[in-house]
Amino acid sequence: MGSVKGFMQYEREVPVSRSIDDRLKDHLEVYDHLSEEKYKQQGARCMDCGVPFCQSGTGCPLGNMIPDWNDMVYQGRWEEALALLLKTNNFPEFTGRICPAPCEGACVLGINELPVTICKIEEAIAENGFEKGFIKPNRPQNRTGKKIAIVGSGPAGLACADQLNQVGHSVTVYEKSDRVGGLLMYGIPGFKLDKQVVKRRIKLMIDEGVIFLPGIHVGVDIPLKKLMGDFDAVVLCGGSEKPRDLSVEGRDLDGVHYAMDFLPQQNKRNEGDVISNDISIVAKDKNVLIIGGGDTGSDCLGTSLRQGAKNVYQFELLPQPTDKRKPTNPWPEWPMIMRVSSSHKEAKSEVRQFSVSTKKFSGSDGKLKKVHAVKVKFGDPDSKTGRSPVIEVPDSEFDLDVDLVFLAMGFVHPVHEGMLLELDVKLDGRGNVWCDENKMTNVDGVFVAGDMARGQSLVVWAIAEGREAARGVDKYLMSTTNLPHSQFLK
Ligand SMILES: Cc1cc2nc3c(=O)[nH]c(=O)nc-3n(C[C@H](O)[C@H](O)[C@H](O)COP(=O)(O)OP(=O)(O)OC[C@H]3O[C@@H](n4cnc5c(N)ncnc54)[C@H](O)[C@@H]3O)c2cc1C
Ligand code: SF4
Repeated sequence: MGSVKGFMQYEREVPVSRSIDDRLKDHLEVYDHLSEEKYKQQGARCMDCGVPFCQSGTGCPLGNMIPDWNDMVYQGRWEEALALLLKTNNFPEFTGRICPAPCEGACVLGINELPVTICKIEEAIAENGFEKGFIKPNRPQNRTGKKIAIVGSGPAGLACADQLNQVGHSVTVYEKSDRVGGLLMYGIPGFKLDKQVVKRRIKLMIDEGVIFLPGIHVGVDIPLKKLMGDFDAVVLCGGSEKPRDLSVEGRDLDGVHYAMDFLPQQNKRNEGDVISNDISIVAKDKNVLIIGGGDTGSDCLGTSLRQGAKNVYQFELLPQPTDKRKPTNPWPEWPMIMRVSSSHKEAKSEVRQFSVSTKKFSGSDGKLKKVHAVKVKFGDPDSKTGRSPVIEVPDSEFDLDVDLVFLAMGFVHPVHEGMLLELDVKLDGRGNVWCDENKMTNVDGVFVAGDMARGQSLVVWAIAEGREAARGVDKYLMSTTNLPHSQFLK
C-alpha cells in the first residue's frame, strides 16, 4: 500500500464532463480525463483493506485485483498495473467507460466517505496502455489445430474469442449486423462509448488472428448445424434481444417504437450511414416519451436531446428511489439509490416521472398523438408470490401530447426463432439458454455465454461469461485447461 493516509488527504475526483452546451452538439464522449497526477492521488485513496470487498463478494464480477492496481497507479507503475488488470479483464477500456461499477458500491471507504474512483482508474490504466504502446498485438506462438465458431460479437463473444485465441485455438466470430461489437457498437450511444474505442479493440484482435465475419445471420443465412460440422466447438453469444412489449390500446400507432429501433440508427448515422426515410426515426422537434427508467431509457434521452427533441418525458413504473441506501439495502450491496445519468443532467429539468403506469396511446389517421397514464402505488406483497400488486391512485389519470414513444422496458430473453429452435437448445425457466457448470448447453460441443445465458445484464458480466465459456471450451477440446475461472461463475 502506497499512501497510508491517502483516503484522508484526497477527496474523490472524477473526470470532468464537457459543458452541456458543447456535448449536446455532437455524439462524442461526455467525459474528459484527469491528469496523471490526479489519477495517482485517486489511487492513493485506496485503503488496501484486509478484505477487499470491491474485488469479491458483491464487487467486481471479474474479480479485478483492484487494490493492487490502485497502488501501482499511485506509484506510477502503469505498465505493471495494466498487466495485472489484463489478467482478469480483456477489455478494461470498455468497462472503465460504461461499467456501473458494483466495485465502488462495495468499496470499504464508501461506508462513510465517497468510494475510490475505481472505474475511471481502470479506464486510465487501459488508455495509458494504448497511448504508451504497452498494448500491442500478441499473436499466439503455436496453434492447436482446433477451430471454434462464436455466434455474436458483443462483449461476451469478444471475451470468449480473445481467451480462446490466446491459447492457440483458431476462432471465427459470426455476426448478423454489418459491424462487429454487439451492443457496444449498436446500442450504447457514442457519448458513453466512442466507437473508435470498439474498433481499436477489434483491429487488435484481427491482428492477433481472430476472424470476424459480419453480415451473417446464423440460423437464417447459414444453419447452426453447418457450423457444428465445420468447427470443433460452437459458442452462442447472441445476447438477449427480445424486447419487453407494452400491450396497451394504441400500441400499433405510428410513432410507438422499441428503444432498439431508435438507438442503433443514430450509431449508424455517426458511422456515416444513411438511414432511409421510410424507417428513419428522429426526435427533432418532437414531443418524446420514454417508457422505462433504466440505462436504455437514459440513452434514449441523451440521443433525443442531441437530435433536438422539443420535449422529453420519461415514465417509470417503480417509485422514486431514495437518495441514500435504505436499511434493507446495506453496504456492500449494490446501492439502490436515485441516480442521475449524464443524459439526465443534460435535460433542462427533471424529465422522470416515477410511479406512473401507461394506460393507452391514442392518435388520428394511424399516427400517435397522446399518451394516457395514471399514477400508481404498490400494495402489500402477496403472501404466496411475494409480488406487490400495482394499484392505481384514484383520480390521478393524466395525458400528454406525444409524437414519439420509445419502449425501454428491458428485454425478456434471447430470440428463440432461428438458431435456438433449429437445434432445440434447452431453455431455463426464464427463456434463457440453459447451460451446465462448463457453460455447455444440452447439445454436445455447443456452449453459451453472456446475456443469451444469464438474461439482460451488464458488459462486465458478459465479459465474465465469455471468459468462463472459453474455459469450458478449452477443457472440452483439450481435456484440461489453464484458462482461469471467472470468480463468480465457477
Ligand atoms: C441501450 C443499451 C445500453 C446499455 N448500456 C450499458 C452500460 O452502460 N453499461 C453496461 O455494463 N451494460 C449496458 N447495457 C447492457 C450490455 O450492453 C449487455 O449486457 C451486453 O452487451 C451483453 O453482451 P452479449 O455479448 O451477451 O450480447 P450483445 O452485446 O447483445 O451481442 C450479441 C450479438 O450477437 C449478435 N447475434 C445475435 N443472434 C445472432 C445470430 N443468430 N447470428 C449472428 N449474430 C447474432 C447480435 O447482432 C449482437 O451483435 C446496455 C444495453 C442496452 C440495450
Ligand atoms: S469492471 Fe466494473 S466492477 Fe470491475 S473493477 Fe471495473 S468498474 Fe469495477
